[in-house]
Amino acid sequence: MFFQMCSFILLAIGLLVSSPINARDITERVDHRYADNDGVRIHYAAPVLSQAVTEINDLTMANESQGENWLAFGRTYSEQRFSPLVQINAANVAQLTPDWFIDLPNNRSLTSTPLVVDGVMYFISSMNIVRAVDAASGDELWRYDPQVAKHAARRMRAGWDNSRGIGLWQDKVFVATWDGRLIAVDRHNGTRQWSVQTIDPDLAMYITGAPKVFKGKVLIGNGGTEHGPNRGYVTAYEADTGELAWRFYLVPGNPAEGFENEAMAMAAETWTGEWWLHGGGGNAWHGFTYDAELDQLYIGTGNGSPWNRQIRSPEGGDNLFLCSVVALDPDTGDYLWHYQTTPGETWDYNSSMDIVLADLPIGGETVPALLHAPKNGFFYVIDRKDGKLLSAEPFAPTTWASRIDLLTGRPVEIPGARYETGSFVVAPSGIGAHSWHAMSYNPRTGLAYIPSIYSGAGRSSGDIDIETYRNEQWRFDTAIGGGPGGGWTKDYPGALQAWDPVRQEQVWEVPADGPWNAGTLTTAGDLVFQGRADGHLLAYQAATGEPLWDFDLGLGISAPAITYSINGKQYLAILVGWGGSLAALGGADMADYGWAYGDQTRRLVAFSLDGNAELPPQAPPRIPQALASSDFVVDTRLAAAAAENFDTACSWCHGRGALSSGMAPDLRASAVPLSAEAFEQVVRQGALKQNGMPPFADYSDEKLKGLRHFIRMQAELALSH
Ligand code: CA
Repeated sequence: MFFQMCSFILLAIGLLVSSPINARDITERVDHRYADNDGVRIHYAAPVLSQAVTEINDLTMANESQGENWLAFGRTYSEQRFSPLVQINAANVAQLTPDWFIDLPNNRSLTSTPLVVDGVMYFISSMNIVRAVDAASGDELWRYDPQVAKHAARRMRAGWDNSRGIGLWQDKVFVATWDGRLIAVDRHNGTRQWSVQTIDPDLAMYITGAPKVFKGKVLIGNGGTEHGPNRGYVTAYEADTGELAWRFYLVPGNPAEGFENEAMAMAAETWTGEWWLHGGGGNAWHGFTYDAELDQLYIGTGNGSPWNRQIRSPEGGDNLFLCSVVALDPDTGDYLWHYQTTPGETWDYNSSMDIVLADLPIGGETVPALLHAPKNGFFYVIDRKDGKLLSAEPFAPTTWASRIDLLTGRPVEIPGARYETGSFVVAPSGIGAHSWHAMSYNPRTGLAYIPSIYSGAGRSSGDIDIETYRNEQWRFDTAIGGGPGGGWTKDYPGALQAWDPVRQEQVWEVPADGPWNAGTLTTAGDLVFQGRADGHLLAYQAATGEPLWDFDLGLGISAPAITYSINGKQYLAILVGWGGSLAALGGADMADYGWAYGDQTRRLVAFSLDGNAELPPQAPPRIPQALASSDFVVDTRLAAAAAENFDTACSWCHGRGALSSGMAPDLRASAVPLSAEAFEQVVRQGALKQNGMPPFADYSDEKLKGLRHFIRMQAELALSH
């Protein structure tokens, strides 16, 4: 399958040639190529139409009542993903049919939220390529390629080819790239306006999140907690110029070098030992919300680096600002307040999940609240004036803490959960009870709709030497060991649940047959939409959870749906493309869906009540079979010696034990490892870097050989079963 993939450029040219031509194209299409140091506008058919009237600014981004546009990641500043549109509603949703679609061949993981303004849709796809299309027809207007493969080099070893979205402000689209750049593109014609590198090239950090735009600034964070001794931060840039406005570190650095601000000095009081040698982590890769009413910015922060607190802070401590909601001054980046969901975290319980703003009736008054359902399994309602915890209840089984004490705002931990004295089955597992898949909130039903995961995992310090452990850059390592036990903590691995944040209880739940389902959209038409790992897009009645519509898109869905309207016609749109960490590391359960890498077509599909587009059939689900070879004699000693290398460098995309869950090729089924020459071309020379395969230019012949033997050993193990 590796070699069946053609290069992106060939494909792009193919698309240009095969795209349907309409009248506008005949007069305006220019096969215009625009190159610069940072990216290439590889397709330019037409400028964004001149009927554009919407200003994209603080007023329009805060306007909940307009439903035509979808201007920001969570639609509006509230991040509710609630649309006031009612043309599509509970009474007629069963009539939804495809209206138009775009096939996205040679794409992989698609996890992002498209944005819509004045009938133009903008979306980001694999390798961070951004397109503007006519949102009523799908006709492409322009395409911008930030040339990630050229820029990323070894950075492609950290993270994967996922992006959750883009940002809009006035005449610009903001693109954050895998390799750490933040780029402003003219939204009318797809030309680059400015570009800044937000990450030190030597650090194994990366970006998968959507830039957050507010008050003329663009904010971006990063991931990389597990890829080296990294120290997380967020940076705001001026939207007009790309000039750095401010940076806020999320954990303190080495005290000997002085602290950047008082907040860091305060945070340092909650760390022990020489934490800075381990970076500390806290990387905020998702979960940014601007509160226009209170003029505050909320950052959901990441877990510790490494996961095991005994290593990074051996005498204990809360380790601020890990796993917190941190409120900052949006103009200066100055610290305002914080609430830490998991003090002294040691389970990968980051708080990088959505932060949703809602005014709730609590205690006889209307409280400006924020809703937050992080990985740790508790649903938090926080007063956003000052960060005071109002309530918190578990929305999934939790074995690390029995409850959250409202007087102290702290979890009541269950003894042993920190696996300091022996292994412990902790729930939720590191996937979280809720990950980045978007939560939505419907102010009419008063319910939040959470894609929930019910899992636990055995945890221990394994055979790690706590005192001498060090991670290094570009090495995926969490510094914990496994343990017996774990698995699903309910009769089903996940669910879509509707949660009442005022009463702090579940109102309805629809069990799912897998844990890795997409984010949600809710509308004033009394609807909730969710795509699932099994390829189905469903609509439910928002108040009751009654299923009303089910459309099989033939490929696992990982992105949330959006809705918008043009000339009075409402559309529903969604990117279809299996992705995210469980699509790589999910093992046999996820592989069983049959979303074999490269088989099914990635696409963007728009539905309406009178659509009459017919989607081409998808390739049927297929589980790749290991390739038999009598020519390759596995040296088990070489294979065993390469296991750690595979685990830390390759499994991140190709799956543990080379069992792919669909986001990258299943190497057991690949012919590439059979040939030393082909393997060298792909792994060391980077022959497939356009497809997201990082070049490992520093790998010795011995290392390559070991990996080939490891992969072939996994293939033979699979064949012998
Ligand atoms: Ca993490």
